[in-house]
This record gives sequence, structure tokens and C-alpha cells, in this order.
Amino acid sequence: MDASRAGALLTVDLGAIRDNYRLLAGMNKGACAAVMKADAYGLGMEQVAPALALEGCKVFFTAHLDEGIRLRQLVPEDCAIYVLHGPPPGTSRDFFQYDLRPVLNDPAQLQEWRALARTLGRELAAAIQFDTGMSRMGIAPADLAALSARADWLEGVRPTLVMSHLACADEACHAMNEAQRRRFDELRALFPGVPASLANSSGIFLGPAYHYDLLRPGAALYGINPQPGNPNPLKQAVSLHARVVQVRSVRDGDVVGYGAHHAVSGERRIATVAVGYADGWFRSLSGRGFAFVDGVKVPVVGRVSMDSMGLDVTGIAPERVAPGAEVELMGASHTVDEVAALAGTIGYEVLTRLGSRFHRRYL
Ligand SMILES: *Cc1c(COP(=O)(O)O)cnc(C)c1O
Repeated sequence: MDASRAGALLTVDLGAIRDNYRLLAGMNKGACAAVMKADAYGLGMEQVAPALALEGCKVFFTAHLDEGIRLRQLVPEDCAIYVLHGPPPGTSRDFFQYDLRPVLNDPAQLQEWRALARTLGRELAAAIQFDTGMSRMGIAPADLAALSARADWLEGVRPTLVMSHLACADEACHAMNEAQRRRFDELRALFPGVPASLANSSGIFLGPAYHYDLLRPGAALYGINPQPGNPNPLKQAVSLHARVVQVRSVRDGDVVGYGAHHAVSGERRIATVAVGYADGWFRSLSGRGFAFVDGVKVPVVGRVSMDSMGLDVTGIAPERVAPGAEVELMGASHTVDEVAALAGTIGYEVLTRLGSRFHRRYL
């Protein structure tokens, strides 16, 4: 969307994302992948993936097949692309055609991949995922035991990665972490010599025992704090600035917004800015959220509407918040994690909901 017409400007700092990748990759003796699902957590896979490839990233993950197909055009041929959901029934040929590697999550997906290998008369690369306790995706230990009882169970499949996913990595003291790591060690013993991967962003910060051969960060690349409650070692990668549409003076007895829930006391000036819940700005920020004007905090007053919301800008010089002026909703003054905490959610949801009506700028 044209910058001068857009209600808000979203700035993605590709340099910060590259710096974050370097910091994370430097924590491991092995390799570091990048997770691109949901359009690189809402920031734009088209721009983010090539930037990370330039930074030396050779392994990428998407959730869906179509995300993988799109990503194939964006990164060099020698980059491996894994699709976390594996092949939906009947799609394994697409994986082959676009040089994508499925993450095989259950016996049916494994059979599907083996069948294609038989048809093509060649070995096909894939990751094998184990469920080590999250009960979301991956082959269950009992299924793995039954499968591996047959000598030819992997015929046609060349495992290039074994992996699992941590349920509680953002809680460093949670007993699940150690339990999952042990189960992972038991299961991967069936695959001697195959590279292993367990750590998402938060998992990386659980220490070297969780690193194995390949790190799999998503959130931390995009500036979300992988260790909630501790200082964030990553750089903010996103800022969001909303445009002022209109400014009005209100006084005692006036109310602001739907439901007439915010009653004004004294004389106040309210700026209506052009971002609302249809842009991914959470309605739960009604009466709780903040914007910043040159570092000065201004509160969201009244309910967040679909396309706009009110800010109390009484303390701000009128010419600074005239129609067309920009105020910061997220960025250096107000991190994605702070916005998420106020909205009652996590930074992941804030980023992945960022709207399609913003003008996007890449640094
Ligand atoms: C989303 C995801 C990741 C990345 O997780 P972050 O917490 O964003 O770093 C890694 N592995 C799997 C299997 C995932 O689904």
C-alpha cells in the first residue's frame, strides 16, 4: 500500500533479523536453521528468507506445503527446505517436484513417502519427527517401536534429520524439558549418524545439551524474547506507526468509543488513529494499550474499533499530533513482548496478526 495513503507504516529491520540470526547461530557448534512459517511470523518471507540466506542460513522450515513451494523460489537451490506438517495425503509428488523435504510425523506419512520412493526408484530425503511428550506432531514412541521392528521400515527414505519439539522451553525450570531431551536421546539412538534437532528459540537458551546439530529458531529471529522475565538479548525487528486521522477536544461528561465506556474527566484532547482490530491490533488493548509520541507514553482510551482507536494526547503539542502525523504503536519504545503482555497474549500472536493494510518498509 502506498505510504502516503496507508493508515499505518510497518517497518521491518532486516539488518536486525540478520544480527539476531548471527547471535543465535554463534551459540551452537552445529548449524542454525530459520523458521519461516506464517510468512516469516507475519514479517514477509519474500524479504526475510533471502536476507537470512545471505547471512549463511542453509536450512529453512515452513509449516505448509504451499509455503515451502513459495520459499523454493526465494532461496538458493542448495538450501534445504523442510515442511513441518509433512505431506497431506496425495501430495508427496509436489514435495519431490519442488525439492522440499517433508517432516514425517506419523506412520501414514512415512508410507506415503516410501510409496513415492518406490515409484520413482530412488531414495528420498526427509526429516523424521518424534513426539517426545507434547502430543502435537511426530511419531509416537509406541508407533516407532512397532515400525522399527521391521528391517525394511525406512526403505526408500534417506533420513537427513531427526527432530522433536519442546513444549515448555520458555520455562527453563520446567521438568518437561529434561524429560523430553532424554526421550529424544533414546529415540534418536535408532538413527546413528543422522543429524538431530530439538531446540526452538527458547530451547537454544536451555543450554548446549539442547543444541544437537541444528537449531530451529523462529521467534527470536524476529525479536521476541526467548526467555520471558529476563533481559532480551535479541534486537527488535519490527516497528509500527499509526497515522492520526482526526483530533478533538473533549471535556467532563463526554465519552469516547463504542459502549461509551470511557468517560472523560477534565479537558482532554483525543487523537483518533487509523489502526484497529482489523489490522491485528488487539481489541483487548481497549483502555489498556499505549502508543508513544517521541518517547512520551499516550494511553489508548475507549474501545479499539475495527479500523481506528482513540489516544489521549492531551500532553502532546498539537502540531505534533495533527492529522497525518505518525505515532508509534510498537518498536523501540514499546516492544512486541510488552504489547503482547498488555493484550493478554504472546509476541508470536502479535506478529502473525499484523495486518495487510499497512504500508511495509524494509530496512
Ligand atoms: C514454530 C516451530 C519452531 C520455532 O519456534 P520458535 O519458538 O518460534 O523459535 C521450531 N520447531 C517447530 C517444530 C515449530 O513448530
